[in-house]
Amino acid sequence: MASNPIAGQTGFKQGLQLCKVCGNHSPYKTEQTRCPVCLSPISVRNKNSLQKTWAFLITSAIFIFPANLYPITYLLKNNILYPDTIFSGILSLIESDMLTIAIVVFIASIVVPIFKIMALTFILLAIQYRWRFSHKKQLWIFKTVDWIGKWSILDLFVISIMVAVFDKGQLLSVYPGIAASSFTIVVLTTLFAANSFDTRLIWDAKK
Ligand SMILES: [Zn+2]
Repeated sequence: MASNPIAGQTGFKQGLQLCKVCGNHSPYKTEQTRCPVCLSPISVRNKNSLQKTWAFLITSAIFIFPANLYPITYLLKNNILYPDTIFSGILSLIESDMLTIAIVVFIASIVVPIFKIMALTFILLAIQYRWRFSHKKQLWIFKTVDWIGKWSILDLFVISIMVAVFDKGQLLSVYPGIAASSFTIVVLTTLFAANSFDTRLIWDAKK
């Protein structure tokens, strides 16, 4: 067992590394080794964390455009296809007096992904350019992004419910559009971006 870590100093500076699985801290000798307690892979910092997070983040920032600009659903009515983007879908939900669902879709499919991308970009830039912004607040922002991640599939859930509700066979059918796959890519890449980010880097950037 290693000596007790001192609060207010990074484990790295104290020659300690933390196991993210069991929470044990042990002295580090090499960059990549295994936790002496639970034998999980352990490292001082996740390898290439910033690069991986940037890569996922840029991918999601690209795919958020087709996700919002292209039709997410097609409504087949009297043999005519009516395309709906996320935004026009929200508008037709409001017109159909389904304000609550419209708000849920708006938050889940427009506000949340944009917030996640902007928040993660902000944290990465703050680390790379050592901005003088509270490190605790950066961690809090990251934890919020991480927590929201659990709810980000909600929009696809709403679409699947709508498809099930509106699908009335030959008279009225709903099909997913190209934006549905783009949106899935946005959801997954923002999740992967948050997952590849090593929060310990926030403290390394502290002067
Ligand atoms: Zn462990």
